[in-house]
Amino acid sequence: MSTQPATDAGPPARRGHAGHSLRQWFDTTPAPLPDGTSPDRIAWLRALPFAILHLACLGAIWTGVSPLDLLTAGTLYAVRMFALTGFYHRYFSHRSFRASRTVQFVFAVIGAACVQRGPLWWAAHHRHHHRHADTAADPHSPGVHGFLWSHMGWFLTPRAFRTNFERIPDLAQFPELRLLDRYDTLVPLLLALALYAAGALLQHVAPGLHTSGMQLLVWGFFISTAVLFHATVTINSLAHRFGSRRFDTGDDSRNNPLLALLTFGEGWHNNHHFFPGSARQGFRWWEIDLTWYGLKLMAAVGLVRDLKPVPLWVLARAGH
Ligand SMILES: [Zn+2]
Ligand SMILES: [Zn+2]
Repeated sequence: MSTQPATDAGPPARRGHAGHSLRQWFDTTPAPLPDGTSPDRIAWLRALPFAILHLACLGAIWTGVSPLDLLTAGTLYAVRMFALTGFYHRYFSHRSFRASRTVQFVFAVIGAACVQRGPLWWAAHHRHHHRHADTAADPHSPGVHGFLWSHMGWFLTPRAFRTNFERIPDLAQFPELRLLDRYDTLVPLLLALALYAAGALLQHVAPGLHTSGMQLLVWGFFISTAVLFHATVTINSLAHRFGSRRFDTGDDSRNNPLLALLTFGEGWHNNHHFFPGSARQGFRWWEIDLTWYGLKLMAAVGLVRDLKPVPLWVLARAGH
């Protein structure tokens, strides 16, 4: 386990750029940067799988589509979005409710299937964002760094690649979470393989479903994951630029109903920056927050507990 801060890109080393990037596709253990590499510029070779994720969506032109493919893509979007918003964000990053170690691990695995790195990396960067929102130290502020960088440039740099363990001592104590973080391509690869195998099997045993290994892989993995990615990062880019500001939070966070629908409640981002400790982000009854409803349901059946509410003084400020 490294305790180096994210701002330290490590000493230079005589090591090939290609070998360095290829190893980090599979094992994210911090390694010294190759000579002459800037920690703040996009590491293009390491970013190659991210480009392939997008290009592979074009495979749909050749594979075609069936209702089962769309259902699979939609279900995987919804389940993984809930894992991101409910657990990567509201649980791991903000500790806004409690869960058993088993539930914590299950949702960490589903979150890891989103191809947005491990839970420790995600939470460490998110805590950093809240502390420095829309200042030069915020790696994904659209106001400071521009829209494109805030949407999908910042996390492709060597500096942002590291997990800053100093921000997440509460999470780093779990070896199973550290393992997910270190080998963060493992779960996505298993999901892709499972989808291909399921599609290939169905092609033979249920040809009436009109799917195949390639078809289910393209829709269930590549398209679903690409849409999930872009929906998630709108909160970094668009929700810090477009929408209304109920609270004077000292940053550029906005409340945006469209983004809230797309991201299961995260679009109430000005609410969230004002009071990040609550498990609920829609503060008024009409502020639809699907993640909050899902968490209430999980609490009702005993899977999670102690959901932190929005305090009365905050509700009063929100216009109740
Ligand atoms: Zn924010
Ligand atoms: Zn947050």
